[in-house]
Amino acid sequence: MKDIAYSNGRIINVSNRLPIKIGFTEGKITYQNSEGGLATGLSCVLTEYDNIWIGWPGADVQSDLQPTVIKELASQKLHPIFLDQKEINNFYDGFSNETIWPLFHYFPTYSNYNPEYWESYVSVNKKFADEILKFASAGDIIWIHDYHLMLLPQLLRTAIPNITIGYFQHIPFPSYEIFRALPWKKQILSGLMGADVIGFQTEDDTKHFTNSANRILKLNVQDNEFLFEGRKVCVEAFPISIDYKKYNDLSAHEATKKIAQKLEKLIGTKIIISIDRLDYSKGIIQRLQAFDLFLRQYPEWRQKVTFIHLVVPSRDNARNYRALKREMDRLISDINGKYATISWQPIRHFYRSFPPNLLSALYKTADLALVTPLIDGMNLVCKEYVASNVHKHGALILSESAGAARELKEAILINPNDVEIFADSIHEGLTMPQEERSNRMLKMQQKVQQNDIFSWAQKMLKSLNTIKNKRAQNNCTLISPAIYHTLDIRYTYSKKRLLFLDYDGTLVPFNKRPEDAYPDAQILQILEQLTSDTRNNLVIISGRDKGTLDHWLGHLSLNIVAEHGASYKEKGNIWHSVAGLEMEWKHTVNDILKIYTSL
Ligand code: UDP
Repeated sequence: MKDIAYSNGRIINVSNRLPIKIGFTEGKITYQNSEGGLATGLSCVLTEYDNIWIGWPGADVQSDLQPTVIKELASQKLHPIFLDQKEINNFYDGFSNETIWPLFHYFPTYSNYNPEYWESYVSVNKKFADEILKFASAGDIIWIHDYHLMLLPQLLRTAIPNITIGYFQHIPFPSYEIFRALPWKKQILSGLMGADVIGFQTEDDTKHFTNSANRILKLNVQDNEFLFEGRKVCVEAFPISIDYKKYNDLSAHEATKKIAQKLEKLIGTKIIISIDRLDYSKGIIQRLQAFDLFLRQYPEWRQKVTFIHLVVPSRDNARNYRALKREMDRLISDINGKYATISWQPIRHFYRSFPPNLLSALYKTADLALVTPLIDGMNLVCKEYVASNVHKHGALILSESAGAARELKEAILINPNDVEIFADSIHEGLTMPQEERSNRMLKMQQKVQQNDIFSWAQKMLKSLNTIKNKRAQNNCTLISPAIYHTLDIRYTYSKKRLLFLDYDGTLVPFNKRPEDAYPDAQILQILEQLTSDTRNNLVIISGRDKGTLDHWLGHLSLNIVAEHGASYKEKGNIWHSVAGLEMEWKHTVNDILKIYTSL
């Protein structure tokens, strides 16, 4: 980790949620670690860097308490951005979770295209930008996370053109046909293009994004790079992972061992587990249907297997989530009602969050894990299961639509909608010979261990550091979109223009053989177009000899300065030499140029 050199500047990590959840009990402010893949994954990485993490603390904090919260979080290198209740409703619950989340998870009919949500999304992204700009300077790397902040890269780019910006999307990027339904698709894509590196979970997400940028913004991609407003934007897949060692160690811990032993004794049958947040993308209903079918088609498993079904409450005040919970509860009650005996219950359902060592014990004791989302950016639960199943006796059924399926190919891969095959796979998973389970588990463990959260962060940061270093070497200032705009207006409305154009490295790229750096048809056409406008007076300035320049450009209606100014030719005239002329004027011109460059 520490081999990444970032000489000056820091990493400013930005996500919608800080990795804590704030609460208020008996007049006291409390801080609790928050659930979710990003918080779990990144909290163990950023401690290694000089960094600050900026985001929302997860609740509406009254203004009189805000200074205390800022102060208390500063010691953990966290900086809060406060959202009021209206912003929470419209930006977070609204545009982020009711518009983008369903659309990007291929549930377009659940998407709510409410203009008020969009306005709030724009203003909260600006709020984040304003707050970040209090900390950021050109030498920093800003690493932005996820779909709540897709406008932020361009907002920051406009303010500090030379800053290095990375954006990582934790959820899928949908195909063009789905994405195009979004009324604000152009703004979202342009917002993302403010980044230097845009990271996605899988190659498929990268392709979908590239395709949308190509068709909506008319940008071409070459070797995973776009050229946007004169700047390169790199698009790449960086599959996120977990802290393998942490999960592996926790599983081997004495306390976990004890819980695991108790659990095995208490349950007394084979154990199947599933662990998800309540979400329609997680395939909870299909999984329960498959388990029901499994118990029907394989009655020999009744009383011999128990399904520990853990669902973490999430967004349960939203309509679609309430309906999902009702359907989930109904199915569980139906299955338990149908198959339970006095001494056995097929599904042990928990609707809450489990502490880490209980989770670890579950992962460790499970004979089979069902990780079967309809779609998922990555899914960390399956990687945590692999890292924690230290005895290698567990099998894994994994949805082919989870990002993790690209890596964990030794799992039993299924389509969660194909309930019959799913049910058969549960039987296959439970009856798989021990040697095969161990072999498959070992291979998956090796992969997760090698591509852990540290290597994920390292890859993304390496990519950002390369860009930052290149920028420092070139030492050039990018023209911001605002300056671009001003130039455009002034060019359009000026009556008389004197344009000085350098030749090598400006009109044509540098070439190892200078004679090969001739102006191609496209450049000649542009120059002809410029000279045909009577308001333009063009001067080509070059260090090249007058013969070559005359040969390449002499037929055009423009002025040429050759040999670093020793020869010049005004349009339609012959060449003049300035050798031997009075040079005193240079001092005056030099002084004037200095005034302009210091502005
Ligand atoms: N998790 C947790 N407590 C629980 C159940 C799950 O902290 O009781 C964590 C789990 O360990 C995992 C995360 O929640 O790190 C879920 O991440 P995943 O990528 O699988 O799904 P997401 O919720 O981000 O869509």
